[in-house]
Amino acid sequence: MTSRTVALTFDDGPGPHTAEVLAVLAEADVRATFFVTGAHVQSRPDLVGRIVAEGHVIGNHTFTHPQDVPGSVPRGHFDRLPAQVQAGQIDDTSEQIVAACGAEPRFFRGPGGHHFSTVTAEIVAARGMSVSHWTADTGDWNAPATLSATFQESMLDAARAAAAAGSSGKHQMVLMHDAKASAEGERELSSFRGNTVAVLPRIIALFRAGGYAFADPLGVVR
Ligand SMILES: [Zn+2]
Repeated sequence: MTSRTVALTFDDGPGPHTAEVLAVLAEADVRATFFVTGAHVQSRPDLVGRIVAEGHVIGNHTFTHPQDVPGSVPRGHFDRLPAQVQAGQIDDTSEQIVAACGAEPRFFRGPGGHHFSTVTAEIVAARGMSVSHWTADTGDWNAPATLSATFQESMLDAARAAAAAGSSGKHQMVLMHDAKASAEGERELSSFRGNTVAVLPRIIALFRAGGYAFADPLGVVR
């Protein structure tokens, strides 16, 4: 009946809040997509195994999340880095993902959404992956370090906008974060994702009420 689909996506993990996100998704019987960094997979492979075992999709989000954020190394938007650097970041991450869960990632998202260059497109396509951007940014990459009802409401606003935009059948992709990229200093961006965990049940309920099915980045219902 419905042709409305949404992919809930969580970037930069796995991290300290990943298990909480998984618990919310399990409680709501929703499958999502996790764009993980190789560095974090290396330190928390068990969580990647859980993500896949619980029916979610794993995406490649580079190894160290290099982008033009103060303190990040190397500097520069990911999709403008030398091709061999991009390929190395992607391959090292896929290697960690396969080691952790046995599955090759089919989706890629560049750090900060910097994944639109032809060089990046060629590298990603050659590895059988597709680039996955988003239609709605909840802004939780810049979340406050404490629980905030105001901030949670702003995340919900972004989800409401996506639900409205997708009512005509355009597949929606909601950007959220279950962790913070390791290249970003704690003084620049907080790693606290309690607001995301707290508002997630309401975001799920919002899409459910709008007749949405939860899907992967290509719109395939899971
Ligand atoms: Zn990211």
